[in-house]
Amino acid sequence: MPLYTVPDKPAYWLILSRNKVLRHEHHGTLIYAHHSELSFVSTYIDEAVKVGEYHDTDCFVLDMQQQEPELDDAELIGLREAMMAEHDSAYNILARAWQVALFLRTHRYCGQCGSEMQRVDWELATVCHRCQHRCYPRISPCIIVAIKKQNQLLLAKGRHHKQGMYSILAGFVESGESLEQAVHREVMEEVGIKIKSLRYFDSQPWPFPHSLMVGFLAEYDSGEICVDGEEILEASWYKENEFPLIPPEFSIAGRLITAAMKEHDGVNTPR
Ligand SMILES: [Zn+2]
Repeated sequence: MPLYTVPDKPAYWLILSRNKVLRHEHHGTLIYAHHSELSFVSTYIDEAVKVGEYHDTDCFVLDMQQQEPELDDAELIGLREAMMAEHDSAYNILARAWQVALFLRTHRYCGQCGSEMQRVDWELATVCHRCQHRCYPRISPCIIVAIKKQNQLLLAKGRHHKQGMYSILAGFVESGESLEQAVHREVMEEVGIKIKSLRYFDSQPWPFPHSLMVGFLAEYDSGEICVDGEEILEASWYKENEFPLIPPEFSIAGRLITAAMKEHDGVNTPR
């Protein structure tokens, strides 16, 4: 049963296939078209899910899973590449579409009784009509913190970072923990130092696969850097002119690094 009635007018289409995003040479990843113009969309029209609006126009995602769309002047690209090319509103739609598709793909059966789940038609959820178990898309909060010591920033090489990349510290919030507790714990676990003057910065959905990055700025308080050797392989204080390869500005990590370095030395709001 279709979840939404796809309107008989042009809309924006985000097409996912084989864990990639379709990008059209002219349209980009948000393809503006009437669904009848996209033959493969018509075949899967019942699977289309509205994920928001873009320029006051409905935006749908279509997850073709292992099938490949047939469209001239278009190619499948990785999510990271697609997101790097987008500005704010398109970025958010893409992040949401990816997570919605992942949610529907991974919630076909009930986690409680094993029956087939049905989509709820008025909200983004799946429900089991046998045991009433209901599921919503998973969002995993993750803290990320830029720590400054005078005019130096703590940068670390993580086990999962790409070759040569250094970044600020990040980690998942654990059950029963506040965001602030998570920051203090992660910093202590990963590099063995105490921090102070913790301030909220901004947040960013990060669909790899379903994180919500919550960014903080902080000041060094005490202790010597001692990396855990598990998640973090190396960490050190860097002056801006000595920075190694760092994350790009489209990520909250990149923006936090820029913001931290812009702050005057010695900014210190006790907490
Ligand atoms: Zn059930």
